[in-house]
Amino acid sequence: MTDTFVVVGGDAAGMSAASKAKRDDPDLEVVVFEKGEWVSYGACGLPYYVKGEIQSLEALVSVTPEEFREERDIDLRTGHEVVAIDPDERTVTAESESGSVVQSYDHLLLATGAEAVVPPIDGIDREGVYTLGSMSDGKELREYVARARDGESFQQPDRGPACQYLEDCTGPVGIVGGGYIGLEMAEALAANGFEVHLFQRGDRVLTGFSEATSEAVADHLREQDVTVYLESEVAALEGGGAVQGGDADEAGAVETVVTADERVDVEMVLVGTGVRPRTDLAEAAGVELGPTGAVATDDYCETNVPDVYAAGDCAEATHTVTGDPVYVPLALTANRHGRAVGQTVAGQPTEGGDVAGTAAVKAFEVEAARTGILDHDDALEAGFEPVTETVDAKSRAGYYPEGGTVTVTLTADRDSGRVLGASLVSEYGEGAVHRSHAVVGALEAEATVFELENYDLAYAPPFNTTWDPVLVAAKVLAGKLR
Ligand SMILES: Cc1cc2nc3c(=O)[nH]c(=O)nc-3n(C[C@H](O)[C@H](O)[C@H](O)COP(=O)(O)OP(=O)(O)OC[C@H]3O[C@@H](n4cnc5c(N)ncnc54)[C@H](O)[C@@H]3O)c2cc1C
Repeated sequence: MTDTFVVVGGDAAGMSAASKAKRDDPDLEVVVFEKGEWVSYGACGLPYYVKGEIQSLEALVSVTPEEFREERDIDLRTGHEVVAIDPDERTVTAESESGSVVQSYDHLLLATGAEAVVPPIDGIDREGVYTLGSMSDGKELREYVARARDGESFQQPDRGPACQYLEDCTGPVGIVGGGYIGLEMAEALAANGFEVHLFQRGDRVLTGFSEATSEAVADHLREQDVTVYLESEVAALEGGGAVQGGDADEAGAVETVVTADERVDVEMVLVGTGVRPRTDLAEAAGVELGPTGAVATDDYCETNVPDVYAAGDCAEATHTVTGDPVYVPLALTANRHGRAVGQTVAGQPTEGGDVAGTAAVKAFEVEAARTGILDHDDALEAGFEPVTETVDAKSRAGYYPEGGTVTVTLTADRDSGRVLGASLVSEYGEGAVHRSHAVVGALEAEATVFELENYDLAYAPPFNTTWDPVLVAAKVLAGKLR
């Protein structure tokens, strides 16, 4: 008898697992339940679809449902929501328009992802308030942009300041949250001529990055005519009609963003205040959550329930530097952990691997990356004594045309010199993101800053100076530690 591998969730983690398992063991029966219509889509591309740089939602799909079914022999059932798991009977129950099905499994993967956090702000249900967590959210936002632009066809956004190529700005619009989705959407909306107001409750945007990175990015947003409100927690979204107890229509569309200090008139609001893991199904089946609130797993992505795995945005991972459980819902982890589960289920036990919390973002004409542990409280809690240095270095040889500045913040442990983390920011195209990969290598190798300063990084004038900015930062920090 062949084994059956059932997957709940048809995106990055789920389809990576399904594909890998089927490829490695063609005899395995692989069944995937996806509640929506889209599978294997790149949600990461949604801001660029809203912006108009990507012309269709279909372009974000890497493998179509037909390809999964016909070429990969995967029993993919879209429009099927798994509503219950019975670990004793080893079955899942899925519901679709045509009724309910009970499917037995030998191995089960929970790849249910995450959903956008909807903060408890008065008026959050009003018409004109959006989040961006799914393909349908992306579709709605793009339709909003098209409507607001009076049905004009999307212009190819140019690379100038907001509104530069339009005679009149549209909007204004509000963005709640200065994380990566907030910043990417600020760019997407400004490029379409909207006057953008961005509200961040803390004292800086991109809180997981270094202060130097946050400042550089906020300065750049302002240069691009985005109004940035720091220390500005949104208290209410006011509009026409009352909100309490009414639905969005009765409540009326959003008209004003209210903070303790400001009242800003807007025509729409995008809420980008993070995501939370979808764990209801797992919890109801007795699957344990970890300290972060996501599904707890072992090195092989297996949960406390035998033969039930969890991967991607619904699950925790182990931090490369601290060894502690962390929740870092990003695409590579979902793909990598999903693939590892597929390989395990096909008969070759494979660890999912740690995460260093490496992340990148582009906002207008700057790019930024972060990896490892930068926050001194986090480092102290993990038993390190953090020391941080920030340097500005040239991105290309001084005599080479163009180029700019790369600002590198590097953190290491005082006693051991071990590299703990880094945050980099530069003009777009000047390499902050790719340079962060050298630091990721150092984190993976548990290298010291004395070793990092001697890394044999490539050099040629169009790409860097002889001493790459990462090496400059490592030398400065090593000097401080000696
Ligand atoms: C706007 C945006 C931009 C992003 N940009 C980046 C980026 O630049 N870099 C990066 O690394 N990451 C980025 N991400 C995050 C990245 O998209 C996620 O980490 C990745 O999609 C996680 O994959 P997943 O398979 O774990 O979960 P998801 O992609 O959330 O997929 C889970 C799937 O499970 C389905 N599902 C849930 N419950 C059930 C159920 N009970 N039954 C059946 N199906 C179910 C859902 O419908 C969904 O299709 C971005 C995300 C968004 C929204």
